[in-house]
Parts: sequence; C-alpha cells; structure tokens
Amino acid sequence: MNFMDFKTNENVTLVSGVARDFAEQYVRPHLMEWDESQHFPIEIFKKAGELGLMGVLVPEQYGGSGMGYFEYMNVIIEISKVCGSIGLSVAAHNSLCTGHIMNFGNEEQKQKYLPKLATAEYLGAWGLTEPNTGSDAGNMKCVAVKDGDGWILNGTKCWITHGKSGDVAVVIARTGEPRTSRNSTAFIVERNTPGFSAGKKENKLGMRASETTEMIFDNCRISDAQRLGEVGDGFVQAMKILDGGRISIAALSLGIAKGAYEASIQYAKEREQFGKPIAQFQGIAFKLADMATQIEAAQLLTERAADLKNRGENMTLESAEAKYMASEVAVKVATDAVQIFGGYGYTKDFPVEKFYRDSKLCTIGEGTSEIQKLVISREVLS
Ligand SMILES: Cc1cc2nc3c(=O)[nH]c(=O)nc-3n(C[C@H](O)[C@H](O)[C@H](O)COP(=O)(O)OP(=O)(O)OC[C@H]3O[C@@H](n4cnc5c(N)ncnc54)[C@H](O)[C@@H]3O)c2cc1C
Repeated sequence: MNFMDFKTNENVTLVSGVARDFAEQYVRPHLMEWDESQHFPIEIFKKAGELGLMGVLVPEQYGGSGMGYFEYMNVIIEISKVCGSIGLSVAAHNSLCTGHIMNFGNEEQKQKYLPKLATAEYLGAWGLTEPNTGSDAGNMKCVAVKDGDGWILNGTKCWITHGKSGDVAVVIARTGEPRTSRNSTAFIVERNTPGFSAGKKENKLGMRASETTEMIFDNCRISDAQRLGEVGDGFVQAMKILDGGRISIAALSLGIAKGAYEASIQYAKEREQFGKPIAQFQGIAFKLADMATQIEAAQLLTERAADLKNRGENMTLESAEAKYMASEVAVKVATDAVQIFGGYGYTKDFPVEKFYRDSKLCTIGEGTSEIQKLVISREVLS
C-alpha cells in the first residue's frame, strides 16, 4: 500500500533511504539477539551519526543535517519499521537532549555540544521523570541549589533513555519551592562530573535494546555556565521540548505499526488454511483494512503536526493528537498482527511478537495516552 504522503520532497526521499539502509544493514541482522540480551548497541549510533541521522534537525552550522520535521519523522519511521528500540534511542537523542540544547542553549553551549551530539561523538540523555513524579512532572524532588558561582544537584531521575551511556544529559531540577510556578531549571551535565552516576537499569517488556536507567545526583557540582536559559524556565522549556518530542513518538509508533502491517500482509497472502490463503477470509481481510485506515489517519495527523512545527507555529494540540492516535494505533495494529500470525505470531521466530511488545511503550513514554487526552481536552476547552 502507498501511504498518502503529501509532504514528500527530495530530502525526505533521500534521508528515508539512508535510514532504511542503515536499519537493514546494521540493525536487522542483530535485533533479536540484542532484544534477548538487552544489549544496548552503542557502536551503531556512531554509524548513524556518520550518516547524519543523529543531528537531523541541527543546523548545518553546528554540524547537523539541517533538515525539518518531515525528514525527521521519516527517519524515525524507517528505523522503527525494523526495530523500535533503535528508533526510540535515535528519537530521544535527536529531539530531547539535542533538541533542548538547540532550542534553549546559548551560543557558547550550542557550539560546545551540538557538533558532538550531531555526529554522535556524544550520546545524549534527557532527564525529567523521577520515581514519584512521572505524569506529574512539575512535582519533582531532584533539586539544584545555588552554591557560590555554581549549583549543587541532588536527587534521582528514572526511566532515562541513555541514563548510563549518555555522554551528556539535560537535567531538569527544582530550583524553587515545591508546587510554585517557575520552580525548575534545566542544566547540561556531563557524564564524568563527580557526583553523577547511573543507577538501576530497567529490565523491560519491550524496547529492550534501548538503554533505560536511573541517573543519580549526589552533591553533584556544576558551573552556572551549564544552566540552560533562565532560572525558573525549566518546566516551560521541558513542555516545549515534549511538544516536538511527541512528533517523534508518533513517528516511532507509525514505524512499528507499518512494520507489523507489512509483515501481516505478506503472511496473510502466504499462509493457507482450509485450502486458501487466510487473506481471503473476511475476518482477516477486515483486520488488514482497519490497519491500513488507522495507519493512514495517524500518518496524516503526524504530518499535520510536523508541518506546523516546521512553520514555527504552536502545535501543542496537534502533536498531542498525533502522539495519542499513532501510539494507540501501533498497539492495536501490533495486537492484530499477532492474531493474524496465529501461534507463529506468539513465537520469536516471526517479527510481530517484538512489534507487539515494543508498541506498548508508545502509549506511555513522553506522556501517557491519558496525559495526551488531558492536553487535548485543555486545548479544546480553552
Ligand atoms: C522505555 C522508557 C523510556 C523513557 N525515557 C525517558 C527519558 O528519556 N526521559 C524522561 O524524563 N522520562 C522517560 N521515560 C518516562 C516516561 O515519560 C514516564 O514513564 C511517563 O511520563 C509516565 O510516568 P509514570 O511512569 O511515572 O506513570 P504515572 O504518572 O505514575 O501514571 C500511572 C498511570 O496513571 C495515569 N495518570 C496519571 N496522572 C493522570 C491524570 N491526571 N489523569 C488520568 N490519568 C492519569 C497514567 O496515564 C498512567 O496510566 C521513559 C519511560 C519508558 C518506559
């Protein structure tokens, strides 16, 4: 099926091909082995960096590919069609850590970090979530206290993609009283900073080759030059970063859904029962029809959000709608794909059980579906 794509341009076609080749050559041969052992294949991100996939949105003057959100969403889709874990890691690196420094860093910070992040010499992490504050991120306990000309960080961030292997992390910490407005600030923390260490690595249902760990700050001293933007702006900055990040999770969802859908089409044409291919049973064909329609709808919502983002317009509503729709579609499509494969779909010999496990992250990370509905309802009621 040709999914409608009203924003195709030469760059989109080119970079999609690069991402597809990268995934086929460096990811596909190892994906089940990495999944089983929870191996985080850090070396392949260097290759992705050489290909321009780790700084898709970073302007060329800082060593990036200087592309827009259509190119970016297609990079994530192509990689995630093969492996959601690698798609998630590429997305977190590009839009969270790198995106935060690109959008809110001063010139000195941009020159220092963006070229290294865009080439994957540095891998990026981004820490907002804490053990007791996920959806309610504004209630964070991790604190940064001013101390002379620097800051002392104390607390724990959890569920952080590349929390151990990240060379540099953007960390949002509380700098004001709890439950007051403008009470947090973002900082760039380098991995070797004394007092900064990684904690527990999560043993996950899916996305097992994407590293997820705690980040622990124990009297971690950082200079004021590492502060991103003004004191008190951290939460507002984080919400803006998540608006863009949600496009990438929508793209991650689309990739997983398309991967599961394409595998299902092929299998339904080949697998015979009662003397004919199972695709000829209406019960199976209608599943494929639902998949195709839902993927198309999610793609259009994601493209609309990407279009607004490219034009610099507010897209809080549209990115939440795209993320909500695409992530729920990914779970539904992956679930139906396992059903189409029957018993074989329940084994690791076929790709759909991994899509099924990986898809669930999409309705949780960067704001759960319930939180997306909260954002959407606030916007439509305002
Ligand atoms: C693989 C993975 C990678 C991640 N990577 C990162 C990362 O790099 N950086 C980072 O900062 N975080 C990251 N996260 C954290 C992620 O963003 C949070 O898990 C997510 O925001 C949900 O928070 P929580 O897990 O604490 O769930 P909770 O907030 O405890 O939610 C539990 C349930 O309650 C519901 N709920 C909560 N509040 C409401 C409400 N007001 N109305 C209705 N329902 C509600 C939720 O929807 C959910 O169903 C990652 C998570 C995972 C699983």
